[in-house]
Amino acid sequence: MPEIFIDGEWRSAREAGRRAIHCPADGSLVAEVDDATSADTEAAVEAAHRAFHDGTWRHTSTRERADLLLRTADLLERDKAEVARAESLDTGKRLVESEYDVDDVVGVFRHYGHVATEESGRVVDTGNPDVVSTVVHEPLGVCGLITPWNYPLLQTSWKVAPCLAAGNTFVLKPSEITPHSSIHLMRILVEAGLPAGVGNLVLGDGPRAGAPLSTDPRVDLVSFTGSLAVGKLLMANASGTVKRVALELGGKNPNIVFADADRETALDMALTAVFLHSGQVCSAGARLVVEESIHDEFVDELVERAQRIRLGGPFDENAETGPLTSAAHLDKVEKYVAAGLAEGAVLRCGGSRPDATAYADGFYYLPTILDGCTSDMSVTQDESFGPVLTVETFRDEDEAVRIANDSIYGLAGAVWTSDAGRAQRVAAGMRMGTVWINDYHPYVPQAEWGGYKQSGIGRELGRAGLEEYRETKHVWHNIRPRPQEWFGSEPGVGA
Ligand code: NAD
Repeated sequence: MPEIFIDGEWRSAREAGRRAIHCPADGSLVAEVDDATSADTEAAVEAAHRAFHDGTWRHTSTRERADLLLRTADLLERDKAEVARAESLDTGKRLVESEYDVDDVVGVFRHYGHVATEESGRVVDTGNPDVVSTVVHEPLGVCGLITPWNYPLLQTSWKVAPCLAAGNTFVLKPSEITPHSSIHLMRILVEAGLPAGVGNLVLGDGPRAGAPLSTDPRVDLVSFTGSLAVGKLLMANASGTVKRVALELGGKNPNIVFADADRETALDMALTAVFLHSGQVCSAGARLVVEESIHDEFVDELVERAQRIRLGGPFDENAETGPLTSAAHLDKVEKYVAAGLAEGAVLRCGGSRPDATAYADGFYYLPTILDGCTSDMSVTQDESFGPVLTVETFRDEDEAVRIANDSIYGLAGAVWTSDAGRAQRVAAGMRMGTVWINDYHPYVPQAEWGGYKQSGIGRELGRAGLEEYRETKHVWHNIRPRPQEWFGSEPGVGA
């Protein structure tokens, strides 16, 4: 069965391209899928444009849209095992993590199913009794949705659910290396009753299948999650037709630990912050900023625990984390660590691929800790997106905040302390879209997610995550129209 979905039909790529998908855990072939080119994307945009302008979806009641989202959530729950397995094969992540991800995706569709019907307009008091003035929200139009490989279905749900809740149509372009959960989601949306043309799926690489979404004048918004470099390119492309952009980009997220923090929890969570999913998390706490007085004992203990982390494939029940996503990504992480060592970072553990032959066919990299780092090094500034923790120290609160903010990014960060006043002061000083106090990583669909500075533009999730997909219109209704007589009451120069 073909895997590209356009205008209610499953189709093969126009140029008959196919792409092999391999499991990063052992290099085995998962499947071959269609590989689209710009001709497929243009056809998908055409379908989404027609479906938007014929009103098929945007004029449905918010109740109908909400019902579709809630049915989608139910069907995802029904298919959880199958979807999680597909996600693990594409990404190499542990099955249990994929299962958590599907639970989260269900929660996102339920959330937007509930908020879809909430009132969104308002009546404005103009001070003029002859005028009824209302502000209403309308769908934006055709949305191009481009997603990455690390949390393929979760990142997709953050876009598709609010996009549909607001009454838009879309063309989805998932990462070319992790397409299967998006294919499954499209099948579920169809089963849930999504009309033809409202949701379209193209599979393929960024330059050929994705880029047209940022240039086509029929696309009103390009919502992108991925790297800073591609985000900048899409923003520049979008300027040609002044389309809206929503960007969720990278992060280099500080995890600040004060000496008065609950030591055991801070240690345990410092590992989770950076090594979860082998560091391939946009909000990974990859930059430990620890108070100088506890540096030695804290880092010694972290090193000891990091060396015990068990690597393995998605279905290995003893594994605690998995491989990197591709050979190219492994290569990038190796170069990143080499650059750090050349700059003077001290390797405390890891720093190489594991020796055992069991890992030879996968893209594994050992959990790595680089000590003795400073803000001017590339390793503390650049995103590795791998299992690499850099360690910096501070002496006081101001210095901790200064180091944490010394980055072009501003996605997320955490502060660990038992002093509530200090926690609030530091959190207020951190220029990031999410700050955790005495915790790391949790998020809920009710609260906004997104970055300050070069971590992005706009927000996903929460109320703002829905507003990204809406236009705002002011309707001024004069209920007692009469001539204003600004012009024409006296003969003028032309008389
Ligand atoms: P990437 O930028 O290489 O690719 C992301 C998507 O963009 C893919 O679908 C890719 O095919 C597409 N793409 C690539 N070139 C394109 C082009 N020229 N035109 C149009 N589309 C193009 O990123 P990635 O490697 O898949 O993901 C990792 C990055 O994503 C990291 O930087 C990470 O921090 C970021 N990320 C951010 C968040 C967040 O919430 N802020 C979440 C997850 C990942």
